[in-house]
Amino acid sequence: MATAVVPKVYKNYINGEWVEARSGRAFENRNPANTDELVGMFPASTEEDVTAAVDAAKEGFKTWRLVPAPKRAEILFRAAELLVRRKEDMARDMTREMGKVLAETRGDVQEAIDMTYYMAGEGRRQFGQTAPSELANKFCMSIRQPLGICTMITPWNFPMAIPSWKIMPALILGNTVVFKPASDTPFSGYNLVQILIEAGVPRGVVNLITGSGSKVGVPLMGHPDVKLVSFTGSTEIGRTVSEVCAPQFKPCQLEMGGKNAITVLEDANLELAVDGAIWGGFGTTGQRCTAASRVIVHKKVYKEFVERFAARAKALKVGDGLDPSTEMGPCVSESQLKTVMEYTEIGKNEGAKLVAGGHRLEKGAYGRGWFHEPTIFADCDAKMRVAQEEIFGPVVSVIPCNDLDEAIEINNGVVYGLSASIYTRDVNRAFRAMRDLHTGIVYVNAPTIGAETHMPFGGVKQTGNGHREAAVACLDFYSEWKTIYVDYSDKLQRAQIDTASFGRISGD
Ligand code: NAP
Repeated sequence: MATAVVPKVYKNYINGEWVEARSGRAFENRNPANTDELVGMFPASTEEDVTAAVDAAKEGFKTWRLVPAPKRAEILFRAAELLVRRKEDMARDMTREMGKVLAETRGDVQEAIDMTYYMAGEGRRQFGQTAPSELANKFCMSIRQPLGICTMITPWNFPMAIPSWKIMPALILGNTVVFKPASDTPFSGYNLVQILIEAGVPRGVVNLITGSGSKVGVPLMGHPDVKLVSFTGSTEIGRTVSEVCAPQFKPCQLEMGGKNAITVLEDANLELAVDGAIWGGFGTTGQRCTAASRVIVHKKVYKEFVERFAARAKALKVGDGLDPSTEMGPCVSESQLKTVMEYTEIGKNEGAKLVAGGHRLEKGAYGRGWFHEPTIFADCDAKMRVAQEEIFGPVVSVIPCNDLDEAIEINNGVVYGLSASIYTRDVNRAFRAMRDLHTGIVYVNAPTIGAETHMPFGGVKQTGNGHREAAVACLDFYSEWKTIYVDYSDKLQRAQIDTASFGRISGD
């Protein structure tokens, strides 16, 4: 007789203990490739849990800020090593909960590994500046100081990489953390926190609470003891985060939407450009902030490019990401699939030419998940909604152009500014593009995706609010500069006033 499968029930991690939500309620996490599979039940937390987590992080900060940074680094090094050991299991868990193909979820965990090692290295850096004083017998230096409790509110598309970009720098600088993962990917958030616990993070230093944006996110970012909010998600919610933080003058880092374009000039290696457009457009099922959801193609190679691109897209194998032969997984959720289907209709009604895909996949095993065909609209006008708005799914709009100037104008003619790419063998035009593309990231002869953790990551315009993730740039967000002057002259010296001090330098 078959026994019923009891779903695994997960808990919040607050003050060094796994605890249920105070409400006693939980929400389901299901596999988007097979919604019959319940991945687990996670706490539906509320403001009471937020209060408990913030209290714990406040208490934890009292001691964590005083732990020498190289000692904090030892914990991060251990965490990175544990991530390496568990990479495969965690990648599989991630594919089950959000659908990306295994090669990509392995990449997601790898990014967390890279970031954790990298930030561990910062335990012995975090350099400040010392400079000569303008006055005799006076010393000037600047040091980084932690802010206190940092909260991270993260999306589902990079459920381990993005939290690690935020949590690791916060920790190495001596802050404590309250982390709210996306409700579509609480399991990967749980796995990351579990690693940090095993690596030896003390009680209260890292706290995890799952639950909805409105019930957890809002009270968390508005809590007066939370000193900083790091948010990655949609531009719409980013605006809310900004509005909640503004009255308290609370620093918030906003990494938001994108409508990124690949430009293909007439001298490009066309095969390489098609490879890039396939990977950029349909990798992660198009659900990347850096996805190449537009391709701007020079008229001289337009016809050939569209034919090759459409043929390759139609040949992509869509399916369960756990199957090693699958090239594109499902949309993350029913609502994301509905958005894709709505935009497909919008594109058709706007007069764009459907040259690949355009339908939900429902037959056989597809019917149990949220699958959609890789979809390409050709002959798009740059002002069409499908060429302007972030769809966040496997839909690419191809726009013809006459020259580089027009391509740059089209590229820059959207509200977002995350990533851009250009395919050309002409070094002069490549450099003009590097200068004039108004985005935070530019690629030459590579698609719009492929960020590395030791380089600054972030966008301009409605993609970001001026901060950068990763690289040493991220340290600036998770620390405050303190400038210190030490006067050992034993007398009152007045900067900018006592300037005639030559010849009066004294050692005593
Ligand atoms: P989202 O709906 O904005 O959600 C992001 C996070 O915010 C989730 O944890 C969500 O919780 C939470 N949230 C929702 N409403 C909230 C509220 N009122 N107050 C506080 N928090 C709230 O975005 P998503 O659908 O998860 O992710 C897709 C978006 O992220 C796309 O626009 C994509 O471009 C963007 N993204 C940007 C980057 C970047 O670096 N620029 C990277 C990746 C993704 P729930 O899950 O519980 O709703």
